[in-house]
Amino acid sequence: MFDMKNKTAIITGSSRGIGYGIAELLAKAGAHVILISRKQKDVDNVAANFISDGLKASAYACDVSDLENVQKVFKTVVSENGKIDILINNAGITRDTLIMRMSEDDWDAVININLKGAFNCIKAATRPMMKQRSGRIINISSVVGLTGNAGQINYAASKAGLIGVTKSTAKELAPRGITANCIAPGYIETEMTGELSDDVKAKLTKQIPLGRIGTAKDIASMALFLASDEANYITGQTFTVDGGMVMQ
Ligand code: NAP
Repeated sequence: MFDMKNKTAIITGSSRGIGYGIAELLAKAGAHVILISRKQKDVDNVAANFISDGLKASAYACDVSDLENVQKVFKTVVSENGKIDILINNAGITRDTLIMRMSEDDWDAVININLKGAFNCIKAATRPMMKQRSGRIINISSVVGLTGNAGQINYAASKAGLIGVTKSTAKELAPRGITANCIAPGYIETEMTGELSDDVKAKLTKQIPLGRIGTAKDIASMALFLASDEANYITGQTFTVDGGMVMQ
């Protein structure tokens, strides 16, 4: 079950946090994981750790908001591995503040990385996936994209946008055997959420029916399933993985 042998999987934003967790689980299931973040040294370190554990990994510095950069890296991946089976659009940032205080730069940075970054990667992966007549695209959204959140107008817009991107990609690429799905994590313990005070963390935990903050592994398990052959009749969907915080 969930056999990823001979699969090439690109995971953006995999130097730490949720992306790292997804890359680790896919690699343990047999995939050759392609690690991407803006800092070469960080992804090199992750790749070295994985390789020393007997896993298959390669690392590239790439800013997903830069289409030219993305196309160059994806071209190299295809020329070295012959294919791209799985694309996980996970790279993301926050620049939280109230609307009145939010700068144009805060808006643009979040939209460019979280939303345009996914478009850039899908655009670059589509040609090889169409040629193969198979592929898996998984976009990491957020429950905030479903519910909205005060102080996160830019982030919520990018994450809601990813749900539309997922549905449109799913419809457009289904005839070529490519699926596209979305995961909407709740509150997950990573560097991104590490800055919250203990008080805020305690309040957030109270809103989670399962009574705990999520882990990267919780999200990785859903990503592994959606990337597997077992999920081949599922496309265009958004799955919340949030301990029951948002029930649709
Ligand atoms: P994180 O710990 O801050 O990690 C973010 C990753 O993205 C890092 O590897 C970072 O590396 C990379 N990255 C950022 N900008 C990039 C760019 N322009 N190009 C390439 N890579 C870039 O965040 P996380 O908590 O694991 O979150 C991962 C994803 O899950 C994000 O999309 C986030 O919105 C989503 N999410 C997180 C939570 C949560 O509670 N943590 C909840 C819902 C959704 P560099 O900075 O070195 O490039």
